[in-house]
Amino acid sequence: MSALSELYQEVILDHHKKPRNFYKLKGANRSAEGDNPLCGDRIYVYLQLEDGVIREISFQGTGCAISRASASLMTASLKGKTQAEAESLFKKFHRMVTRGGNGSLDPAELGKLAVFSGVSEFPVRVKCATLAWHTLRAALKGKEEIVSTE
Ligand code: ZN
Repeated sequence: MSALSELYQEVILDHHKKPRNFYKLKGANRSAEGDNPLCGDRIYVYLQLEDGVIREISFQGTGCAISRASASLMTASLKGKTQAEAESLFKKFHRMVTRGGNGSLDPAELGKLAVFSGVSEFPVRVKCATLAWHTLRAALKGKEEIVSTE
């Protein structure tokens, strides 16, 4: 394992053990539930959206290390971002975990989210890594139904 992927592993485990923004947000005006039956991951995302800006964001749920760490890092990355910025970050993140971290992608743009670049080598884990993001998008759109990766 390279030094970089070891560092990435450490960040993922840290966010799994001590997830950031892991609580039910009081005063949330948007929320959604995401389900990844393949792995058993279930994530709830709560948002306080004001004038198109994510003022507060939190999550709860159970699941594997990848799904929890991804939700934790996502919430940490999105506080204060506009809806359009969140959508743009989702697209970059999705491209990275489905096609790999190299090529057209600038890792600096993704910040800490780059720790998931290795996920592209494990297609079954892509759903774990993107579950929180799909749930976030449903919350932003105000959808009520449960988002499923299946
Ligand atoms: Zn999972």
